[in-house]
Amino acid sequence: MTNILVFSTHPDDAEFSIGGTILKHSKKYKITIVILTNGEAAKNGDKFIRKKEAMYLTEINQNIKVKFLNFKDGFVNSNSKYQLNKIIEIIRKLRPSIIISPYWKDSHPDHREASKLIKCARYKASINILEKLGNPFFCKFIYFYSLELINDSNKIYIDISEYLEMKKELVNNFNSQLCKEKEYEYTYINNHILNKIISKDIYCGTLINTIAAEELLIENYIKIDNLFSII
Ligand SMILES: [Zn+2]
Repeated sequence: MTNILVFSTHPDDAEFSIGGTILKHSKKYKITIVILTNGEAAKNGDKFIRKKEAMYLTEINQNIKVKFLNFKDGFVNSNSKYQLNKIIEIIRKLRPSIIISPYWKDSHPDHREASKLIKCARYKASINILEKLGNPFFCKFIYFYSLELINDSNKIYIDISEYLEMKKELVNNFNSQLCKEKEYEYTYINNHILNKIISKDIYCGTLINTIAAEELLIENYIKIDNLFSII
């Protein structure tokens, strides 16, 4: 059973943005990362290389699975019935306790479209329609992430201090996106990408007085039993 279903638009978004949170929770929970595209539109790395890089997490942790939906990179579209149905189907099949989705105001258009698709699919998966796609299921909790800092309210911070070194290794595994081979060329996006990722995590850590943290946005109200539980 999948406890946490993470949607990733491309084969590195989830690891780069919330790799520490995934590693931390994989100690106790089953996690499935569903990657919408194969990232073939990137300047570096073809779809085979990018898929292989994304499988690394499954090699180091048995609690993590990775699945691909093979949508065309650059053409994630919230108006696509095919893409919406594929996401409804996977939510109904995996029946997760938590969904983690790309953020709907991210600067990358594919990430924004993915976010809209996932929000819509989460709702439609829960109602009595499209019975060929599986039995209705409502996932109660959804979080949103971004590679960028989220300029919005209702954010929470996951302390990943103990996982920072493991996250560096995880990010470092994406050879094509870190331009580790001679044939790869740096782009505006991936130049100094490891520094950007880790600097953001350390900055988020300072916000909660710890070494490193990752940021997630929530839409739900939060229930707590004790005022001390969030201190
Ligand atoms: Zn992406």
